[in-house]
Amino acid sequence: MMMLKDNLKIVQENIQSSVQNCGRDLSEISLIAVSKTNTVSKILEGLNAGLTDFGENKAVEFRDKSELVKEKLIWHFMGHLQTNKVKYVVKNANFIHSVESFKLAKEINKYAEKIDKIQNILFEVNTSGEEAKFGLRNYDELYELTEKCGELSNIKPVGLMTMAPFTSNENILRKSFSKLSEMRNKINNKVGSIKELSMGMTNDYAIAIEEGATMIRIGTAIFGARDVSLSWREK
Ligand SMILES: *Cc1c(COP(=O)(O)O)cnc(C)c1O
Repeated sequence: MMMLKDNLKIVQENIQSSVQNCGRDLSEISLIAVSKTNTVSKILEGLNAGLTDFGENKAVEFRDKSELVKEKLIWHFMGHLQTNKVKYVVKNANFIHSVESFKLAKEINKYAEKIDKIQNILFEVNTSGEEAKFGLRNYDELYELTEKCGELSNIKPVGLMTMAPFTSNENILRKSFSKLSEMRNKINNKVGSIKELSMGMTNDYAIAIEEGATMIRIGTAIFGARDVSLSWREK
């Protein structure tokens, strides 16, 4: 059986060669280990293997794990977030990747203010046009939301996030990522602080790196296939 540290080594080597192939620098890319469905001891194993950033996509699971892990790490929340669950996430999240409405941004701002924190956020963009996906649909929606968020003093927009369509078609994946990159450049010209591109998962991170990703979100390639037959507490 493959150990986490062996998986991680492969991922790191792949990142290294992607970065080299497109003339980028390794320091431009943060590797986020998406630990959803995995146990706290797996997270600690990842920390020991050198991982620094971890991501979860369910608010309650995020709250519980981020309370259980006492070690210092960088927490990312990247799932669909309902306003009534914002309070579970803001306390420990260094970054919230999935902001897609003013209503949600306002709620995050409210909780951040309550605990005297400036919350880093990313706007989620639906770059594939798939109906089932969350996220802003186009540049105009992004621009409008960015403008409105300017009045919220306890959130700090730092980037954009997207989920590519579920396909192995390289052209479609590349188009989705390059679209996010173009939107980032355009909005960043106006706002100046939206620099991060959170894109690329187990099956497509090499392409995402070529298209400018600064945060890649990898679960399966690090932790192995997710076992959803038991909850993370029961494993
Ligand atoms: C699960 C998840 C990932 C990681 O997916 P893998 O294919 O296992 O690497 C990345 N981003 C989000 C938002 C996720 O929910």
